[in-house]
Amino acid sequence: MTASKNPYLELLEIPPGYLNLMGYVDESEVNGPGCRAVIWVQGCLRECPGCFNPDSWSFEINQLMSVDALVEKITSNPRNEGVTFSGGEPFWQAPALANLARKLKAKGLNVMSFTGFTLERLQSEYAPAGSEDLLSQLDILIDGPYLQSQAVNSPDSTVSSSNQRVHVFNPAFKDQISWASDQTEIHVLKDGSRIVTGYLGQLFLSD
Ligand code: SF4
Repeated sequence: MTASKNPYLELLEIPPGYLNLMGYVDESEVNGPGCRAVIWVQGCLRECPGCFNPDSWSFEINQLMSVDALVEKITSNPRNEGVTFSGGEPFWQAPALANLARKLKAKGLNVMSFTGFTLERLQSEYAPAGSEDLLSQLDILIDGPYLQSQAVNSPDSTVSSSNQRVHVFNPAFKDQISWASDQTEIHVLKDGSRIVTGYLGQLFLSD
């Protein structure tokens, strides 16, 4: 299989074993089943009109964090039952996310990811490097780009446009595909800054 490479990632040289992050929260209940950490990665080529997180498009280094530091951070909060990868495009950083997922699953956490790619594309020879490995670690995948023309405004929808699909790879989650995706959460951090998340995966940072 020939996996495609992202020229932006090569140029920016994210160190092996590190992720370039846009944001992070603990204990979210609006970004997947149960209570979970959420990682928003930095960088997306897609530029969907109406994207909820346009600040995530740039591939410039924003916040580098090692996989091991993230494992420590996520597992140090016992309320985190799992982790959700959002963005940005998680699959452009698939090798490091696959390693993170593997380490968290070994500790009993579950893993879910959003992606702007379709599952078929991620299973093809044109998938970003590491996609197969990351897919093998996921319990749930929500795939497809956000299409404003097919926007879903239903309060109990788990997708933001009707072309997107929920793939439940782990049957244990078949009955858990409902969360308050129309709700927002405000997380106040130790330094006083705030992260507002929820409503179909959007993320705002404010002081
Ligand atoms: S794939 Fe997601 S993060 Fe990327 S532009 Fe589209 S909506 Fe935004």
